[in-house]
Amino acid sequence: MWKYIFFGLIIWLGIYVFKQKRAQSNTPKTNDTPEAADKVEDMVQCATCAVHLPRSEAFLVGGTFYCSKAHVQSK
Ligand SMILES: [Zn+2]
Repeated sequence: MWKYIFFGLIIWLGIYVFKQKRAQSNTPKTNDTPEAADKVEDMVQCATCAVHLPRSEAFLVGGTFYCSKAHVQSK
């Protein structure tokens, strides 16, 4: 029982330290928030294999997204 609590604490600590490090590395350039928001891209799903991929990498054919040309042809 206690080892699970101990493991939970270790994992929580790891995530906490990771977030702290990220927060620190982001601090010097605080005015890049709009740019960062632009980088969050819409994810679309391939109609053939159901894999998720960024919209910019997807093939849009007839209003349907595909992950590759091969899957466009196999529709
Ligand atoms: Zn696919």
